[in-house]
Amino acid sequence: MPTSAPWPVFDTHSDALQRDLDLGQDLGTRTQGHLDLVRGAEGGLGALVFVCWCDPAFIEEGGAARRTWDLLGAGHRLLARHPERVAWAGDGATLSAAREAGRIAATFGIEGGHSLEGSLERLEAFFHAGVRVLTLVWNNHLDWIRSCQDGAGPGIPEGLSPFGREVVTRMNQLGMVVDLSHAGERSFYDALETSSAPVLASHSGCFALHDHPRNLKDAQLRALADQGGVVGMVFCTPFLDADARAEEVRLRTSAEYQGLTGANSTELFLRQAQWMQAHATPLPMERVLDHLCHAVEVAGVDAVGIGSDYDGIERTPAGLEDASCYPQLAAGMLRRGFAEDEVARVFFTNSQRVFEAATRPAAGVPLSPLSAEAAGS
Ligand SMILES: [Zn+2]
Repeated sequence: MPTSAPWPVFDTHSDALQRDLDLGQDLGTRTQGHLDLVRGAEGGLGALVFVCWCDPAFIEEGGAARRTWDLLGAGHRLLARHPERVAWAGDGATLSAAREAGRIAATFGIEGGHSLEGSLERLEAFFHAGVRVLTLVWNNHLDWIRSCQDGAGPGIPEGLSPFGREVVTRMNQLGMVVDLSHAGERSFYDALETSSAPVLASHSGCFALHDHPRNLKDAQLRALADQGGVVGMVFCTPFLDADARAEEVRLRTSAEYQGLTGANSTELFLRQAQWMQAHATPLPMERVLDHLCHAVEVAGVDAVGIGSDYDGIERTPAGLEDASCYPQLAAGMLRRGFAEDEVARVFFTNSQRVFEAATRPAAGVPLSPLSAEAAGS
């Protein structure tokens, strides 16, 4: 059965859907890239958030919402093709039911509030199409929320604008998980203060170990824990390690890397990722464990989860090359002195707890068919 590995994992962030949509790689089969349902099952994947990441370039190209619907459509078709492997989860009950049936429980996420195109009605439409997690902002600032990156121009609020607070409140009412990875520091605290449900930071590391803007400071980790939230430990090498980040910046300037091509941006990214994995100095998995241990030390073992960012990162730490590798990380945690029940919490039950608390049983309706807008009319 797909979920028989000893340490079920709830991965709170993967970008794999882009390969399915743009490259026709059926994620229900063994594919290239980092994550599919076959390798996931081998690695104990019990639940995951299939993220619809919309490159801000699509804002210009005909609509961020359009691109998001296309990714969501690919997700729906994936679930329909492989009902023996995967089942949609909209709340705690459907997540448990999928697990009990031996299937990977999959929910949908959207990475970047630009996909809403300023509309709470669209947020609701996405919800009815199965989206249960929204990463409020990606690296591009919005007029209602500042991201963690530099370069916010005039018109960008310090944190959440009144409309931003409305988005969070509406998400709470609908039963969607607020995801604060990528949010600016003030946005992070504004959203924590506004949300009536525990939140996720689905794929981040620890700022104390590497001062990357995508990592969370100790005070943020504590605030997240106090609110009942969870930070998913990311496998993204430039977030984990300053030397790895510097080397990758250098390697990207090489003629070989610059000469890589692809039929579309997803194929190009896949080739760049394969190239980087082959050429950069391997980063030991121990570096992920360093961040994980620090987060546990600061925020407690109940505030930490796993958010690989598989297929959204160029390369992975050594030993975590794809979704069949989660057990290596569990073994590493045991070596670092974690008890078995602590591994189980970090791997699965902490994120399950947030998902259950933030979604609503009343909203656990079956995945509804895509609307006319979603279907591409
Ligand atoms: Zn991200």
